[in-house]
Amino acid sequence: MSERILEHCPRCGAAGLSRPNVNKWVCPQCKFQLYLNTAAAVCALIQDDRGRLLVTVRANDPKKGFWDLPGGFVDPDESAEQAVIREVREELGLRVSSTHYLCSRPNAYPFGGITYRTLDLAYVCRVESGQRAVAADDVQGIVYCRPAELDPHRFGFDSIRQIVEFFFKRIHPL
Ligand SMILES: [Zn+2]
Repeated sequence: MSERILEHCPRCGAAGLSRPNVNKWVCPQCKFQLYLNTAAAVCALIQDDRGRLLVTVRANDPKKGFWDLPGGFVDPDESAEQAVIREVREELGLRVSSTHYLCSRPNAYPFGGITYRTLDLAYVCRVESGQRAVAADDVQGIVYCRPAELDPHRFGFDSIRQIVEFFFKRIHPL
């Protein structure tokens, strides 16, 4: 691994931390051990009544302007289901009425000079009828796509592209 995430010990300030595993740092002076484990994240697959998939356009870096699915990091003390319901409300103003787990894919999320490793958990979400999605938070736009209209290269993250492809293969075999 060539990533330089930690250069000094957070406890004693010594330099020269060793990294015996991808997620573990050890201080040569005070032997402090720090783990940066994979973070849980969620994303939502929402279809309108015509079977089109709701795709968001990212408002911020990383990958500003690229396609994404609604979602984000799971907060401490929160279930993945609670997280996906909260994210859909924050980003789109939609109330989710049911969630069904679909699959997971690993992702790398660069932010502020650190590449966070995430595990993206995908949920098929139904939303209460009569609502209109409004882009908010870190979403700058909304696109509804049929499978034939999906351009895989416009997705900012491989994990999300893979989840969308898996969804349409499973749910709507072409
Ligand atoms: Zn130390």
